[in-house]
Amino acid sequence: MKAKIILHLDMNSYFASVEQQANPFLRNKPVAVCAYLSPRGTIIASSAEAKAKGVRVGVGVEQAKLLEPKTIFVENEPAKYRCVTKRIFAIMAEYSDKLEPYSIDEAFLELGEWVKDFKQAEAIGLEIKKRIFNEVGEYLKCSIGISYTKFLAKFAGDIAPKNGLLIISPDNLETHLNRELTEAWGIGRAMSVRLRLMGIATLAELKAADPIILKRWLGIYGYYLWCNVNGREITVINRGARPPKSIGHSYCLAKRTREKNYLRTVLAKLCEKTGRRLRNLELEGKSATLYLQYMNGGHLTKTIHAADGFFTTQEFLAPLYDFITDQELEGAVRMMALTLTKLSPVTEQLGLFKNRLKIKNASRAMDKINNRFGEYTVTSGLLFDTEHIARDRVGFRKTVSFEE
Ligand SMILES: [Mg+2]
Repeated sequence: MKAKIILHLDMNSYFASVEQQANPFLRNKPVAVCAYLSPRGTIIASSAEAKAKGVRVGVGVEQAKLLEPKTIFVENEPAKYRCVTKRIFAIMAEYSDKLEPYSIDEAFLELGEWVKDFKQAEAIGLEIKKRIFNEVGEYLKCSIGISYTKFLAKFAGDIAPKNGLLIISPDNLETHLNRELTEAWGIGRAMSVRLRLMGIATLAELKAADPIILKRWLGIYGYYLWCNVNGREITVINRGARPPKSIGHSYCLAKRTREKNYLRTVLAKLCEKTGRRLRNLELEGKSATLYLQYMNGGHLTKTIHAADGFFTTQEFLAPLYDFITDQELEGAVRMMALTLTKLSPVTEQLGLFKNRLKIKNASRAMDKINNRFGEYTVTSGLLFDTEHIARDRVGFRKTVSFEE
C-alpha cells in the first residue's frame, strides 16, 4: 500500500488576523482579542505586532496595557471567525474529501492517491496558502506541515516558521527530533517529567528508546508516543496519560539490625526518595505502606492514610518514624520498602490545613535546592539526629492527621 501523505494547516494569530482583515484600521497595529473587555479580562489571541511586545495569550488586559500601551483591545466575535474558518476549510476540501477539522483554526487533510510524493504535496500546500491569501484575505497567514502520519504532520506544522511550510519525510525525520519533549503534540509537562525520570530528555532519545520498556513504565500511552516519533500511524491518540498506580522504593540494609536509630535513618532516606518522586510527578497519595522484612523471613507492615493526601515527605515520615520508635521488633531487619498508593494529581485546594499550600510550595522549593546542590542539602527536622545523612538542616515539621 502506498504511504499516506497528510497535510496539517494551522492559522497564525487567527482571531487577531481575522479582526485585522475585517477592519483596515487595525492593520499593522498591536491588537489583542479578549473574551471580555473588562479590566479583568484575558487575552485569547493577539496580533504579531502585540506578540512582539509580550502581549500573548493568557495575559490579563491590565498587564497588556503595561506591556504595550498602544494595544487595541477587541472583544471576540466567534460567529465572524467561524464564517472565515468555513471558507478556509472549503478551499482545503477541494484537494481531498478526507478533511478533518481539529479546531477552529486547524485541520488535517489526507491527500489522495493521485498525489505522488512530498514535492507534489508541497505544491498543493503552497497553492492553498496562496488561495487563502487571494480568496479569503491577505491578512490571513498559516503554517503548514506535511508528513506521512497525522502526528508528524501536526508536529511539522507546529515547528514550521510562522507563515511557513515544513515537510517531514522518513529521510529527514531524525534531523527534526533534536527538540524538547514538550514540543511534541501529546507530551505535556507531567509526561515529560516521567520521561526524564527514565533518562529520556529529547524527542530523538524517545525515538531511540525501547518501546517495551516505555510500555512497561508508562502503559500503552508510552508505546503510542514511541510510535508517534517513529513515524508509525496509530489510531488512538486522544487518550490522556494516566498517573501510575503506586510509587515506591526499597532498600536492602547494609547492616542487618534491630537498632532503632539506624532503621529510622534508613526510613527517612526512603521517605525522602519516594517523596521526591511523588512531587516530581505532581501527584499526591492517600495511603503509605511501610514493609520491613526480618532476617528470618517474617515481615511487618504498617499502612497509614491521609484524607487530604500525602505530598510532603514529613507528612508520611513523621507517623512512620513514630511507628518504628514504638514498635517491638521480632528480629534483625534485612529489607525495608515504602509504597505510596491511591495516587492522584496534586490539588492546590486548601483543605483542613490553611497552611497546606505554603507547606507544599516549601516542599517543592526544598526539592529544587536538593536537586541543584545535592541530596539532603536542606532537609527535615526529623533527620536531626542522623548526622551522616543530613549535612545541613532547616527545621521543617508539620503535624498531619492520619487515620488507621
Ligand atoms: Mg493557530
